[in-house]
Amino acid sequence: MKQKASRLPFIEEILENVRHTYRVRFFWRTEPLTHEEKQEIFKKAENPYDTNGYSKVLLQGLKNGSTQVTKHVCFQGSTILGSVLYVKPRVSSYEPDWDIWGHCFSLVSPHKKVHVVYYSNPQPRLSPDVKKSVGPEHINGGLTMQCNAQEIVIYRREEDTRVLIHELLHASCSDPYDAGVTYIESNTEAWAEIIYCAIMAKGVPHLFDTYFQKQLIHALKQIQSLETYHHVKSPQDYAWRYYNGKREVWRSLGIVLPQIGPLRSPIKSLRMTFQDMKE
Ligand SMILES: [Zn+2]
Repeated sequence: MKQKASRLPFIEEILENVRHTYRVRFFWRTEPLTHEEKQEIFKKAENPYDTNGYSKVLLQGLKNGSTQVTKHVCFQGSTILGSVLYVKPRVSSYEPDWDIWGHCFSLVSPHKKVHVVYYSNPQPRLSPDVKKSVGPEHINGGLTMQCNAQEIVIYRREEDTRVLIHELLHASCSDPYDAGVTYIESNTEAWAEIIYCAIMAKGVPHLFDTYFQKQLIHALKQIQSLETYHHVKSPQDYAWRYYNGKREVWRSLGIVLPQIGPLRSPIKSLRMTFQDMKE
């Protein structure tokens, strides 16, 4: 007899909420940037976490027209859910999945209008050479202020939607304030990946189960690679919070982690979610 899949109650709740956002229609409109917004894209490129400085490089391209800035506004009926200032190389045809972003705004920031400045850096997340430690420059891609949905910055193209959800969670006051930054980041990332799988699955339970199982395997393999080849062992190691730390959070939520076999070689990509989730 086939056993009915049992999901944790909070997973069922998230899936139901995602299905609800898929019953709502969003539309996006492009609008001209205001004078203040033109200044804002320069101000927010001064980001100490963007250690490769790509946001500033992109802005230099505005002088000769090789960089393009567009403003995208998301509506639900006549209500504005949020806006994005999108800075990208003119030759790039890449666009975020605007429809999915509308669902993210609606689900994770239902009561606050969202504003994002997005610098589309094509540099993927890659691990350094074996034995070298993993730092912010290898993995980070966004920042925001707690409880403020107007100050979100995304500065890497890879996994932009997952990063958007992570920052929206900080912006929606979900951080446990009595905890340190390492725990806050682990906690936020663990939830962001659950919500990301739920949104990509459009709230369809069996699709979520498939995605999330693949996601757990992807994450556990990465943790093994980081432990074996980059000495990521304790919360003092920077990368711990986004990999090993989220495993602890998933465990504490009662999520059953799959067994994985030994790794034969290091994993080069440090992207936190597996590719091709739409399959
Ligand atoms: Zn964070």
